[in-house]
Amino acid sequence: MSLFTVDAQSVSQAPEVGVQGAPMGSPSHHASSGRATSPHVVIVGAGPAGSSAAILLAQQGARVTLLERARFPRDKTCGDGCTPRALWMLERLGLGALPGDAGAPVDSVRAISPGGITWSALIPERLFGGRSSVVPREVLDERLVRRAVQAGATLREGVRVEGLEREHDVLRVHCRDGEPLRADVVLGCDGSPSVIRGALGAPAFSEHEGAFAVRAYYEDVRLSHPRSMGFFWEEALLPAYGWIFPLPGGRANVGLGMRADQLAASGVRLPELLERFCASPHVAAELAGARRVGRVKGHHLPFGSSARHTTFDRALLLGDAAGFVNPLTGEGIEFALESGAFAAEALAEAFATGDLSARGLGGYARRWQTRFRTAFRLNRRLMWAFERPRLLDRIFHLANRDERARDELIDVLSGEATRLSWRFLAAVAFGR
Ligand SMILES: Cc1cc2nc3c(=O)[nH]c(=O)nc-3n(C[C@H](O)[C@H](O)[C@H](O)COP(=O)(O)OP(=O)(O)OC[C@H]3O[C@@H](n4cnc5c(N)ncnc54)[C@H](O)[C@@H]3O)c2cc1C
Repeated sequence: MSLFTVDAQSVSQAPEVGVQGAPMGSPSHHASSGRATSPHVVIVGAGPAGSSAAILLAQQGARVTLLERARFPRDKTCGDGCTPRALWMLERLGLGALPGDAGAPVDSVRAISPGGITWSALIPERLFGGRSSVVPREVLDERLVRRAVQAGATLREGVRVEGLEREHDVLRVHCRDGEPLRADVVLGCDGSPSVIRGALGAPAFSEHEGAFAVRAYYEDVRLSHPRSMGFFWEEALLPAYGWIFPLPGGRANVGLGMRADQLAASGVRLPELLERFCASPHVAAELAGARRVGRVKGHHLPFGSSARHTTFDRALLLGDAAGFVNPLTGEGIEFALESGAFAAEALAEAFATGDLSARGLGGYARRWQTRFRTAFRLNRRLMWAFERPRLLDRIFHLANRDERARDELIDVLSGEATRLSWRFLAAVAFGR
């Protein structure tokens, strides 16, 4: 059985370059005709997950086609907050330090509990240099996709993928317009809900799973802490939590999210809850004199703790399509970017052995489980605590007076914590 099909068109068009771990001339690169071609990876969706995978795979020498239904620059509903790890990944992908006009540099976190207890702290150096940033997705995603093209990926914008079909060793990607596209491997990076997820037979994310979140942009904002990401747990709005993230030019991203099942049970609408959030005393003080620009936009967030189905014969699910979102904070950019790197590494291994079955691609699941799973589980458990106002007051009170506890909370809000120390738990439980 030949591993890589030879597509006459692609042989004449694509350079015959090797994939890392399987140099040209190795048996795995020879199709039945005797001609060799690099494997064709079709990536559906050019958000952070798709572009990250495209950059790294193209750098490895794979033939990459990136299909995106929108045209860049395009907006994506998001809080635009990049964690320290996300910034580190962006540098690894060759975006370099993002210039000041691209995003607002952030060096600290500030959080307010339901009882009004506030703590703030600098992001420690040990977390990827202690830097975060807030970068509008209209800017971030375009820079990433341009980098993918620079690395050698072919970008096809305005292409809506509608399905996937298997034919022996080949996958055919069906688009709304045009001929189906032949692929050796398909990466589903099409967010939530995901067409590729459905086509691979993975269960759809239920509307009662995960969370929903809304955001709005404000201008003429004069934040009290312009280099801080602000997180707010307002008593009247629990179990929702909100944020104010600074943007360049006196703008801010203001938003709010709530667990999907709780939202359904409450009967409230998130845009109305956002109005109440903006009118609440702490937030109103930050937004005094500011005005909203554009519409309030919302979207579903699939939770990482329910991520299970990610690896299939000749196909992987990445980013939101896999459910890689921090259940406590709703952050998903870093997991999307990192899942792109894990997919590229696993594919390099699979190309080298010639085994593109789910088993051969197993390195992908091993990598993301090692990195994400414990953090997702911890954050899922912490959601319980973060919905209880008096407990949250106690935790924030502790953070205020104890530097080590504060450090642990920064890890939690940055998506880095995999456990909480006994010292922290005892201090919260016994009020020490
Ligand atoms: C309100 C809100 C606030 C958030 N705030 C933050 C935050 O501050 N920080 C953070 O880290 N995360 C945040 N997130 C989560 C974050 O936005 C996602 O986790 C992240 O965008 C996932 O990246 P992705 O590449 O997997 O998917 P996406 O960014 O959703 O990209 C998917 C791409 O696929 C394309 N696509 C979809 N279907 C098709 C199709 N059929 N054919 C072709 N193309 C298709 C889409 O157009 C899109 O470009 C927030 C989410 C929401 C909703």
